[in-house]
Amino acid sequence: MEIQRTANAGALLKMDGVSILLDGLCDGIDIYLPTPPDIIDTLLADAPDVLAFTHNHPDHYSEALLLPYRKQNLRPILGPEYLPVEGMRVGDVTITPVPSRHIGKTEPDLVHHSFIIEGSQCVWFMGDAAPLQWKNRTDLPKPEVLIAPYAYANTKAAWEMSGSLAEKVVLLHLPQRNNDPYGLWKAVESTANGATNLYIPKIGETITI
Ligand SMILES: [Zn+2]
Repeated sequence: MEIQRTANAGALLKMDGVSILLDGLCDGIDIYLPTPPDIIDTLLADAPDVLAFTHNHPDHYSEALLLPYRKQNLRPILGPEYLPVEGMRVGDVTITPVPSRHIGKTEPDLVHHSFIIEGSQCVWFMGDAAPLQWKNRTDLPKPEVLIAPYAYANTKAAWEMSGSLAEKVVLLHLPQRNNDPYGLWKAVESTANGATNLYIPKIGETITI
């Protein structure tokens, strides 16, 4: 599979001939960067088969950037506010939304779904879901690849959970190294430094797993 990081906290996943945008058509907020203009253009010219959004925060989703897709009815859009109860199947790939709790306590009523994508491999896309809620979930298919924000690797407890859950972890939501006032890079590197199962792509970078 290929995973391209399209913004601070979003990615374009290509697996089994199916492309799925997972968040990442969005604005920036604070230190977290928006989708670059060239990626916005590419995504529109070569629209993903499905666009899926975990929640309605500006660093994950932009109503304005989705307008052309909605106007032309270009592709199915899952979320963030009118998410179908059931998932969908495209080719040999199924996408299942899983209600999950956003990190932090400031917006307890925020609607948030993570996505499980199953094809020849299983991928979990966490969005901004709090990490430790997955610890005792035995009802979900086990992922080979976890795509998750920095909070899945910046504490020992979260990193242990991530490692026990998935073989490989693709970490998103880290800012630029030279604009990191909260010390997020330092926290991740002191927790998970040297881990061979950890991937941290730059915005625009595509990794093959
Ligand atoms: Zn959020």
